[in-house]
Amino acid sequence: MEHILDYSWRQLRDWFISKGQPGYRVAQVLRWVYDSPKVPFDEMTDVPKVVRKDLRKAFKVFTMQVVSHRKASDGTEKLLLRTHDGEYVECVLLRDDKGNRTVCISTQVGCGMGCVFCASGLDGVVRNLTSGEILEQILHLKCLLEPEERLSHIVVMGMGEPLANLGRLLGALYRATHKDGLGISARHVTISTVGLPHAIRRLAELDLQYHLAVSLHAPNDELRNKLVPANRRIGIQAILSAADEYFAKTGRRVTYEYVLLREINDRPQHAQELAQLLKGRNALVNLIPYNPIQGLPYEPPERRDVARFVDVLTRAGIQVTVRYRKGAEIEAACGQLRRLHPEIASKSKKKKKKKSKAADENAVQTGETVSVVSGEGGNGKPEAALTASVVMSGDPTVVVTDVEIMNFEEIAEPETSESKRDSE
Ligand code: SAH
Repeated sequence: MEHILDYSWRQLRDWFISKGQPGYRVAQVLRWVYDSPKVPFDEMTDVPKVVRKDLRKAFKVFTMQVVSHRKASDGTEKLLLRTHDGEYVECVLLRDDKGNRTVCISTQVGCGMGCVFCASGLDGVVRNLTSGEILEQILHLKCLLEPEERLSHIVVMGMGEPLANLGRLLGALYRATHKDGLGISARHVTISTVGLPHAIRRLAELDLQYHLAVSLHAPNDELRNKLVPANRRIGIQAILSAADEYFAKTGRRVTYEYVLLREINDRPQHAQELAQLLKGRNALVNLIPYNPIQGLPYEPPERRDVARFVDVLTRAGIQVTVRYRKGAEIEAACGQLRRLHPEIASKSKKKKKKKSKAADENAVQTGETVSVVSGEGGNGKPEAALTASVVMSGDPTVVVTDVEIMNFEEIAEPETSESKRDSE
């Protein structure tokens, strides 16, 4: 059984044609999927009955099962989803009083970046999510909305490193932002990255108007190497110059995220150093008071230290926001809820015992673990498998190939351009 959203427009059209159906069935069926994801194929009334049966046999819209649904008093809702192969991912719906409805989605099972304070990467990365699985999270969350509510924003800030799964993420975002897809404005999409320069440049070249957020967390390499081990092979300067290119090409101001950890990176000298680093850039610093994770030794900053940090940056002319904490009582921080699930907790304990000390010391696990999955990457089609092996080449600096980009541009090709090409 295939995920219908892992099929490109062209592949779906070929499928309908093989069933003796016209190509416009793709638009018809996908309209149902995006507008009313819960409606089963059997109830898609404008599709012939015999085709509905074939669709039911061949495809699924929801391949992931909701195993936990938590709702916070501020309207935040969090889902823990179980994938078809028994892995767990999280996604969150955030509501604000301006009427914005934001979904926060995951791109990988686990994470290979090893940030020491984050729950997502405690056991490394298991596999990339497919485009269909990334989109499906948005559909699950859309189903939680009240009739008068509309999805307005997407933040790619859930589990995983989005730029380490760029091709599949772009495929999902293409459909999420396409007028024939979910129709969310590209300017309302934020991709948060640990900072992988090659992938940032690739994204800049594509000029898709997504908002880029770079997780900096430290003003110098010495401290960042400790907090964000992936930095050891990259370095802050390489990230800043890629981010500068992103701004130059897209005109979109880059945000630098900075998690404040008590007495580790929240001192006034850190703020001064950060101001120095970002001076002259049209940048925004988003301070995130740490959301504590059970079992990790880090603590949230004192209120007055946050205020002082803001003050130092502001005086230096740097624009700053402090991220308002939402959904704290439902474990809404990255990877928190997944770790509370009994199956994950026991898996994680077993894994820890097995791990050699040497492996423990090497916290950055990009590559090895995921490349095992590459053979069955995406929907098992050659280009998807190639994408996976290229992306996860074992180096956190990702190389994105043209093959991958072609894959994402094809994924939601609208009927109009299709017919135009046919008539040319
Ligand atoms: N891999 C991406 C997405 C991570 S999640 C990245 O590194 O940007 C989005 C942000 O939440 C990142 O800045 C991440 O460092 C931060 N984060 C992770 N765990 C957190 C916690 N417990 N409290 C506060 N912020 C956290």
